[in-house]
Amino acid sequence: MRRWMYNFRVRHDAEWDADYVGMKCLNCDYEEEMELDVLLECSNPSSEESPVVCCPSCEHELLVPKDVYDQIKGGFVYKPE
Ligand SMILES: [Zn+2]
Repeated sequence: MRRWMYNFRVRHDAEWDADYVGMKCLNCDYEEEMELDVLLECSNPSSEESPVVCCPSCEHELLVPKDVYDQIKGGFVYKPE
């Protein structure tokens, strides 16, 4: 997987054998869960900080993984393991 400036957790769902990421919008706080494959496919390739997609609620390109949201809003960065 690509390296991002911000790290985020991925939840593996055994029943569907798929990885999911909790997403949150930096603009309007809309939340949803996205499949990791879909997120990586749809995210803006020029973003170096985090995968980012268009928010279906406010239509700004500010929907990021919830862990990234927390880091940006809280002003800290998870250290890579
Ligand atoms: Zn939004």
